[in-house]
Amino acid sequence: MEAITAVRGTNDLVYAQAARMLALENTLRGIAHKYGYEEIRTPVFEHTELFTRGIGEDTDIVSKEMFTFQDRGERSLTLRPEGTASMVRAFVEHHLFAERGINKIFYTGAMYRAERPQKGRYREFHQFGVEVIGSPSPLVDAEIILFNLDVFKTLGLSGLTLTINSVGCPKCNPAYLAALRETFKNDLPSLCETCRTRYDKNVLRMLDCKVESCQPILAKAPAFSDHLCDECKPHFETVKQELANAGIQFTVNPRLVRGLDYYTKTAFEISANMLGAQNAVCGGGRYDNLIGVFNNGKSFPAMGSAFGLERILLALGDAETKNTIDVFVVAFKETADKLMPTLSMLRAAGRSANADYNVSSIKSQLKTADKLGAKYTLILGPEEAAAGECMLRNMTDKTEKRVKIADAAGMIV
Ligand code: AMP
Repeated sequence: MEAITAVRGTNDLVYAQAARMLALENTLRGIAHKYGYEEIRTPVFEHTELFTRGIGEDTDIVSKEMFTFQDRGERSLTLRPEGTASMVRAFVEHHLFAERGINKIFYTGAMYRAERPQKGRYREFHQFGVEVIGSPSPLVDAEIILFNLDVFKTLGLSGLTLTINSVGCPKCNPAYLAALRETFKNDLPSLCETCRTRYDKNVLRMLDCKVESCQPILAKAPAFSDHLCDECKPHFETVKQELANAGIQFTVNPRLVRGLDYYTKTAFEISANMLGAQNAVCGGGRYDNLIGVFNNGKSFPAMGSAFGLERILLALGDAETKNTIDVFVVAFKETADKLMPTLSMLRAAGRSANADYNVSSIKSQLKTADKLGAKYTLILGPEEAAAGECMLRNMTDKTEKRVKIADAAGMIV
């Protein structure tokens, strides 16, 4: 029989790898709290319509990458490919607008996209995202970008490039889309099939195309900044000014549109130069009209961003991480009855403790203690144990002391 393995494009995080992911999530949580974000947790599957209406039918995500299935009641459900649509649904469903003027939300969890797996691109991956709902201010856009950079600074990750753009709003969009159509009208025969379809259906999405032969043609795209209206232009200027005031270097890429239809005004991406092809470590943008789609047309201005956690871990490199425990309890056959009470006593005192329940040879138990990264071993020798005592060995400096079992927990530092 063939062995059952993990599904293509998914990863098991074993021991130290899981610990690295948890540490990263905890760091992100800590920084998010500093900026005033609070967590919302939502289910990993949603009604498919949430994503088709929210992200846009013509996007790569919705048209090619969703894991969609029918439940037993023949409802169409989809494993979430991103987090913003769910946050918006929760925001509307729980009337969070009634609770406070500006909602600052963070989320973390697994996302699912049926992409072609390669290093840094998976079918199940993890994002940590933030959303600020309720303010049209460009200061919010700048703060989200600064938050993202703060995270990388805290993690000690350098070699990053910040790229920004403004994709306008429904007021200035039509003129830009017309300019795009005009630019590419004679190029259609040379463009890929997806570009040709998008030319008619959703011309902005053409700028998302990754096909090599389309790139020289798409490079002719006019800059959005030349078409911004009198609301979007000063908004973009303020975002750039705030970043400059904070001493941040950035590049304006007039073709940066990002793969979701809901963006308005600011869009940005941060890439880690050392990652090669899949180098985007986070990205985001403003979505002033998305909430209206789910709230009977009444929208709330909003902006958000998301980090790709696997890519951040890749960029940080394979730093040697080893899980540790405070104490490993070594028992002899004669003292096996003391094993469980000793473990319980240590844990009740707040120490992490483990043991070899098979009570193998002392040599083998000490080897296991080493493998588990035990800081101390507590050895229940028959003679010591009879007197309510044990040997406490410091595994770092290899010193040993005979102490009362009851006092051992307090001697572990
Ligand atoms: P997006 O939701 O497409 O804006 O992506 C935000 C971030 O999630 C990206 O910058 C990546 O770091 C990460 N990401 C997106 N898709 C994948 C994937 N298939 N595998 C791993 N990370 C991903």
